[in-house]
Amino acid sequence: MKKTIFILVACVCGASAHAQQYVINGTKSEKTKAMEPTMTELYFPKVEKITPGDQATASAPSDAIVLFDGKDLSKWINTNGKEALWKINGDGTMTVNKDTKNGGGSIQTKESFHDYQLHLEWCAPANITGAGQSRGNSGVYMQGMYEIQILDNYENETYVNGQAGSLYKQSAPLVNPCRKPGEWNVYDIIYKAPTFNDNGTYRTFPLVTVIFNGVIVQNNTQLIGTTEYIGLPTVKPHGDGPILLQCHGDPSEPISFRNIWIRKL
Ligand code: MG
Repeated sequence: MKKTIFILVACVCGASAHAQQYVINGTKSEKTKAMEPTMTELYFPKVEKITPGDQATASAPSDAIVLFDGKDLSKWINTNGKEALWKINGDGTMTVNKDTKNGGGSIQTKESFHDYQLHLEWCAPANITGAGQSRGNSGVYMQGMYEIQILDNYENETYVNGQAGSLYKQSAPLVNPCRKPGEWNVYDIIYKAPTFNDNGTYRTFPLVTVIFNGVIVQNNTQLIGTTEYIGLPTVKPHGDGPILLQCHGDPSEPISFRNIWIRKL
């Protein structure tokens, strides 16, 4: 039996920032056979740029699991199964290690999670260079497979469903409250894991709310599958999964993280 695949189509004639969803029957391989990255990149409607209010650093509440407190990466491993070797800076922050030949690469939590509230802070360096997707690209993945984009979009245009606060290539953020390079951005994410039917399709979809610098940019948004760079989202039955921080291969200066904690719901 063929799986049901969803495709996103830009809503270019309405005021909504949401992509419209259409359903096409066919397997992923059939639908992605001749696809290119640009075929799933939306540029309209543009996302309004706003200025966020001031935010004090949010220390972890008493019932949170602290995933990174600035001291070590004991809660994390490299996605290749080896030790996580991102740079601990000694000031409460850590920096992505892009040197994949020397312990770099994406990292993920050792523990897996189901439903949760996740807090993390990220900062692009003040001297960052590059443009589009090659400017401070990282990402935080829910259950290891659904990416909320991290990117310096303070003064940087890219496809709207790939900018900071997007559910990558599925849902553009409602607004753009990105702070300038050298300043800390805050993500507070509320995630509800999907459930699955016996045939592997979603019984209930993954749901994501993202508060970006105190501003809602994803409002209980439904994911329709994995967040693919090339091709359409696909549905892969899964259980609990890790929080994953992306080491992106772009040549721009690496971003930093601090103050990462999670509360199981
Ligand atoms: Mg990314």
